[in-house]
Amino acid sequence: VEIITDVAALQARTLGWRAGGLRVGFVPTMGFLHRGHTSLMSLARPRCDKVVVSIFVNPLQFGPAEDLDRYPRDPEGDAAKCEAAGVDLLFVPDTAGGGFYPGDFSTTVAVSGLTSGLCGGKRPGHFEGVTTVVARLFGMVQPSLAVFGEKDYQQLAVIRRMVRDLAMPIEVVGGPLVRDDDGLALSSRNAYLSDEQRARGLSLHRALVAIAASPEREVAALKARGQAMIEADRLDYLEIVDAETLAPLAEVDRPARALAAGFFGATRLIDNVAIAPK
Ligand code: AMP
Repeated sequence: VEIITDVAALQARTLGWRAGGLRVGFVPTMGFLHRGHTSLMSLARPRCDKVVVSIFVNPLQFGPAEDLDRYPRDPEGDAAKCEAAGVDLLFVPDTAGGGFYPGDFSTTVAVSGLTSGLCGGKRPGHFEGVTTVVARLFGMVQPSLAVFGEKDYQQLAVIRRMVRDLAMPIEVVGGPLVRDDDGLALSSRNAYLSDEQRARGLSLHRALVAIAASPEREVAALKARGQAMIEADRLDYLEIVDAETLAPLAEVDRPARALAAGFFGATRLIDNVAIAPK
């Protein structure tokens, strides 16, 4: 895999590919790659001629008390995983000197409505950071297609909305959530968990599965059942929403999604499952 750190060099390569009629697929990440990330690369591979992965831990999407400074990193391991997944180009922007954002960077891309609840409600400014960096990365990479994971279900909906609203000529593909053998959603942040925290972290998925399997349709009852099962030190939210609009539901009478976020020690885990209307 070719590794590029310079934006001008990246654009020379990707714009050259586009001019030659090639389809460029893009998987943005924050690195410390796992099977969740490589599953997205595998989705991009047959749909494109060239696959680009970026690794950038974006300061704009972290709150002041969050884990920006200790976010895990593994540059060599990440490059090997991209190579094995058939990635053509790995973009690791050089953050020294001027950094990724110019000193007088002045633009914010914000999607309203969809970002008000769930993680958006608990992490003020998070989704503005996400949409701003993804818009900037799209400008840098010029992809034909971009792949995002359902692990970050709200993020996927927000990106789809941004791309539609700004008429970006990019196909957005969602990839299914990839789990470890025990059911824990794969996340770079799982590296922070002690064995005891990890064991309790599994309760997030168990609760969501119980909700999805229950014949109960009333959301208040489903949430009460799920809340009783989750062994978090602090539950950020457990919500059941319309699968498309993310609007809260009173009753599961349409395709829905159950989503939860909670702290296990200092580590915040998220998970979600589909609920089919009965
Ligand atoms: P991150 O590195 O956490 O910013 O994630 C980069 C991309 O990988 C995002 O589109 C995530 O939704 C996706 N992703 C992370 N973990 C998983 C997973 N367990 N299954 C599927 N996609 C994932």
